[in-house]
Amino acid sequence: MSDLLITGARLLGGEAKDVLVLGGTIAEVGSGLDAPEGAQRIDADGLGLLPGFVDLHTHLREPGREDAETIATGAAAAAAGGFTAVLAMANTSPVTDTAEAAERVLDLGREAGLVDVQPVGAVTKGLAGEELAELALMHRSRARVSVFSDDGRCVHDARVMRRALEYVRAFGGVVSQHSQDPDLAGSSACCHEGELSGRLGLPGWPAVAESSIIARDAQLARHTGSRVHVAHVSTAEGVEVVRWAKAQGIDLTAEVTPHHLLLTQDLLSGYDPTFKVNPPLRPSEDVEALRAALADGTIDAVATDHAPHARHDKEHAFVDAAFGMLGLETAFAVVHDTMVRSGALDLATLAERMSAAPARIAGLTEHGGAIEAGAAGNLVLVDTAASQTVDAAASKSLSRNNPWHGMSFTGAVHTTILRGRVTASLQGAS
Ligand SMILES: [Zn+2]
Repeated sequence: MSDLLITGARLLGGEAKDVLVLGGTIAEVGSGLDAPEGAQRIDADGLGLLPGFVDLHTHLREPGREDAETIATGAAAAAAGGFTAVLAMANTSPVTDTAEAAERVLDLGREAGLVDVQPVGAVTKGLAGEELAELALMHRSRARVSVFSDDGRCVHDARVMRRALEYVRAFGGVVSQHSQDPDLAGSSACCHEGELSGRLGLPGWPAVAESSIIARDAQLARHTGSRVHVAHVSTAEGVEVVRWAKAQGIDLTAEVTPHHLLLTQDLLSGYDPTFKVNPPLRPSEDVEALRAALADGTIDAVATDHAPHARHDKEHAFVDAAFGMLGLETAFAVVHDTMVRSGALDLATLAERMSAAPARIAGLTEHGGAIEAGAAGNLVLVDTAASQTVDAAASKSLSRNNPWHGMSFTGAVHTTILRGRVTASLQGAS
């Protein structure tokens, strides 16, 4: 059932090849290949073939908020977006801060069977920022947790962050930090601090609240000889610190979201909570800096920060509404449109940023590798010429907080393949 022959696909956007997947593993890459009887065939003439995308930053809401998303609906949205693996953030209810909780997320992902759901473990118990969670036990569990994050909150206490980095170093883990100094940008901060936040009367979220934490964590990573990952970097100042840290040889990686690559703070002037996200949308100068950093590799990866919310949590006055927006299904289209069509990235480098680098950071060896014999058949076919207009009602997600509704993009996911099995097929996309 997981035998598949893809014919005429442009590998990483280059030469057209056939790819034969047998028993979930790539058996052969070549020309004029034959499929065994019973194998599925996909005529991929004109389509690009990339390793399946890997999302370092997904909120799936289960357990606890199944009214906003379940692991099954989030996995369906991920597959529709071309993903073959997602990292499920720990800020569920209960929090993923034990081995049992992590194994439960893993098992629910396997039941859904559409994408590999890899749990992220909390850094601190209950995300309270005080006492370290069971980091080593989560790593030794069946879930093999190696990415830890209190995302939604910053690990603010430098002593706790230092100890977390020391712990994860022992097994090659990484701490993914939500860089927001709560003394500089508190929990109500929801608009980039500047002229606009003053005019709109919204609590400001200054760039220095991000960059100062990135700088501190870089120093702690150097001091401990451990590895830190910067979640959703959103400012030019933050990028500058990431660039500096890498130049020092510090083991630091960074991700950017599709929304920070395209949307700007100007969208807040209508007080529409759909555009309320944390960190907030920034001025266009920051967007330009983020694009340049993704192009030159200062930012390693794209991550969606897919954050579904039920209507009753989002439909409030701007200051009271929940933070976050959907992102899984539109990530490729946004990155393709902003980065590839503009000439800043080619398709092969997009695959590096959306597949290979995130898989490496998360230690997922079955994803993001070269498309060659022996590799797992985790793949995505993309149609770079297809145009699509986003319809929030058509989303696989349970939630509708979709900032992309009504926007048109060139570039669409055509078919997603998990170990040789088609998990999403959007052939009506063109
Ligand atoms: Zn976050």
